[in-house]
Amino acid sequence: MNAKQISHFPIEDNTNGWSRVLPMRRPNPALAGLHKVDWVVIGAGYAGLAAARRLAENRPDDSIALLDAGEVGENASGRNSGFAIDLPHVVGSSMDELDGSHRYMALARAAIAYHETQIERYNIDCDWSKPGKYQTACSAQGVTELLEPFARELEALNEPFSWIDKADLDKRLGTTHFKAAIYTPGCRLLNPAALVRGLADNLPENVSVYENTPVTRFNSGAEISLTTAGGEVRAKQMILGVNAFAEQFGFYRRRLLPFAANASLSRQLTDAERDTIGCEENWGVTPANAFAAITMRYTQDHRILIRNNIYYNPSMRETASYQGKIARRHKRLFDERFPMLPQVEMEYTWTGFICLSQNGAPGFGRLADNIHTSICQNAIGVTKGTTGGMLAADMACGIDNELIGFMQSLGEPSRLPMQPFLGIGVRARMAWELWRARKEV
Ligand SMILES: Cc1cc2nc3c(=O)[nH]c(=O)nc-3n(C[C@H](O)[C@H](O)[C@H](O)COP(=O)(O)OP(=O)(O)OC[C@H]3O[C@@H](n4cnc5c(N)ncnc54)[C@H](O)[C@@H]3O)c2cc1C
Repeated sequence: MNAKQISHFPIEDNTNGWSRVLPMRRPNPALAGLHKVDWVVIGAGYAGLAAARRLAENRPDDSIALLDAGEVGENASGRNSGFAIDLPHVVGSSMDELDGSHRYMALARAAIAYHETQIERYNIDCDWSKPGKYQTACSAQGVTELLEPFARELEALNEPFSWIDKADLDKRLGTTHFKAAIYTPGCRLLNPAALVRGLADNLPENVSVYENTPVTRFNSGAEISLTTAGGEVRAKQMILGVNAFAEQFGFYRRRLLPFAANASLSRQLTDAERDTIGCEENWGVTPANAFAAITMRYTQDHRILIRNNIYYNPSMRETASYQGKIARRHKRLFDERFPMLPQVEMEYTWTGFICLSQNGAPGFGRLADNIHTSICQNAIGVTKGTTGGMLAADMACGIDNELIGFMQSLGEPSRLPMQPFLGIGVRARMAWELWRARKEV
């Protein structure tokens, strides 16, 4: 039996704007006492929630415990920009790359179908909608170097899209900031905290959810044993869905890159302010350079979301003073895009922690005979985390599913250099990305 003491946990800072705009929710009680179960799932993000549901469907007579260190909807899964994206960001033009993109789209679309089934079945009110999205460029260089190749790739994939020129785009988005965009229809938009709450609060009866239950000690072997502040779980099998915290459990050492990402939601626009911008209702914009530039949304409740600033953050902690700086930066970015609305403030600003790998591959599959995982969604967890969780459960139950092979074809997170070379290398790469994309901000 291997024992592992966990020393670093997620913390809750009560800043997530998506949950602040929702009614209060009473969390499930923390684990207390000894529980013997068939399965334990750790992490109630997209990955853990999908794994727990799928296990319950595959094995309706088994008992499943789902543990999370925090409250449902307050993790990265509830803090993201709320894009369920069906397309790969980079396609490439070789046959292998096109094949890879088809597999990728099958995985992403399986997650979208899964979410739509749950939303309809349980009547989950999470502003789920199908407006598609705009992939934008701010500079002439961005149009030729980023958008035009993307259009050629979509053609090669036989995927529907429209090229939106500046005049049309200005009207659709209510800002003159962009030069052009590619519109694709498959993306869904949502309030992520509302979706995560709805998924967690409507799990099958054989799943017990324990919130505010950080696992402090992990023993692996023929039986899994997990210690928490108030109790212990003993399980035959485990699925790990803790994203970058997987290293704490002794897995994927020197393979994961924890990054921070920040977002703000403005206050709701008044009717007069909405008339001033006079744009389409409910749109989403992703930048052609996802790392350096800005994601934006105009939400169904008439707020503007700004997501910007992704940076290496191995401690997975951020200070209130830095968040203050981010809020001011987001306000400036908002003003540059909507100079006609100088009085509109950012009402909420928050930080979330994501997990990247150097080669963009997820952590997926079997870690031991009785341990499976889905982690490291490379910032597209609404879809990839969801499918990964479902497939980890299928794999653990020995269920044949074509998509497992598709998931495995995405590879394994590659090994990283030692510190301090890693930190220096990642920060240098990010600085270069920001410089390269400086005209796209
Ligand atoms: C600002 C921002 C914008 C983003 N925008 C998008 C977007 O528009 N679309 C998209 O697809 N993705 C987006 N992402 C990325 C996406 O949110 C993540 O990829 C996704 O949430 C990862 O899901 P997960 O279930 O793997 O991990 P998480 O949601 O991080 O869940 C992991 C869970 O593990 C728990 N945990 C960790 N350690 C322990 C422990 N010791 N004991 C018990 N529990 C533990 C945590 O509490 C946490 O709840 C964004 C992320 C951020 C931060």
